[in-house]
Amino acid sequence: MQIAMIEDRMMRVEDVRPEYLDRGTFFGDGVYEVLRSYNGTIFAFEEHLERLANSLAAIEMTGVDVNHIRSRVLRAFEQAGIANAKIYFHITRGSGPRDHLPGKDLQPNFFLTVTELEEDTRLKKEGVSVSTYPDTRWKRCDIKSLNLLANVLAKRDAERKGCWEAIFVNDEGFITEGSSSAFFGIVGDKLRTAALTANILPSITRKYVIKAAKNIGLKVEEESLTPVQARTAAELFLGVTTRDIIPVVKFDGQVIGDGRPGRYTQMLIEEFRKFTG
Ligand code: PLP
Repeated sequence: MQIAMIEDRMMRVEDVRPEYLDRGTFFGDGVYEVLRSYNGTIFAFEEHLERLANSLAAIEMTGVDVNHIRSRVLRAFEQAGIANAKIYFHITRGSGPRDHLPGKDLQPNFFLTVTELEEDTRLKKEGVSVSTYPDTRWKRCDIKSLNLLANVLAKRDAERKGCWEAIFVNDEGFITEGSSSAFFGIVGDKLRTAALTANILPSITRKYVIKAAKNIGLKVEEESLTPVQARTAAELFLGVTTRDIIPVVKFDGQVIGDGRPGRYTQMLIEEFRKFTG
């Protein structure tokens, strides 16, 4: 490669800014995290860092000190001064010539944003519609990697159908999770959600939803629902860091329960609040 072109500008390859040679862009070769704060305190910070360490190890990325990442996140959060913030960051393997094999002296790239979280109370009060989409993702969805094209396509499909979230259904006909959320059903007196395998992200919200469910006396069954079971479940909801619990009132056009957030879902929302302060 001798020359490069960025939009209409031609230049020598040596003059290309490293941001354009990021392996995150070339290959999705990186991992990320999304955290949130409630009233000035980052929720489940250590769990997010632990998941980050697992993601880094799974993609064999060395040279990242998680303690250093912790202090960067804290510094940015404190400087932003936003009480209810969404903190996004990613770490890529670094910048270099496009080669599947990473060069030996790559330095990881770090990028972070802190943004104010606008609480949309309507979502919780009224619930959302979801639609199913084939789970076309790779087989390591437990890694929070930057490869999110299938998730993007799924979400676009949901939007076209007037839905808030896409729910992935795998080749065996089981629901894995949402395009950017964990998925839950209430069946009888049980909370049902997919087991933690390589097929789903170990959602931090999921962990706390399970805790909350046990606290309010629900049994927990870590077993995937089929779309047919979801359509007939008493209640459905989603879990994601930025919004904790979001009731689902329509699944592939089928009204769930009486079309309003269910009783257990509301109890879980209340119980979850005890964790977030
Ligand atoms: N599943 C997927 C695919 C996600 O992208 C997300 C969050 O973005 C979740 C589940 C929920 O994870 P968490 O509760 O850690 O935010």
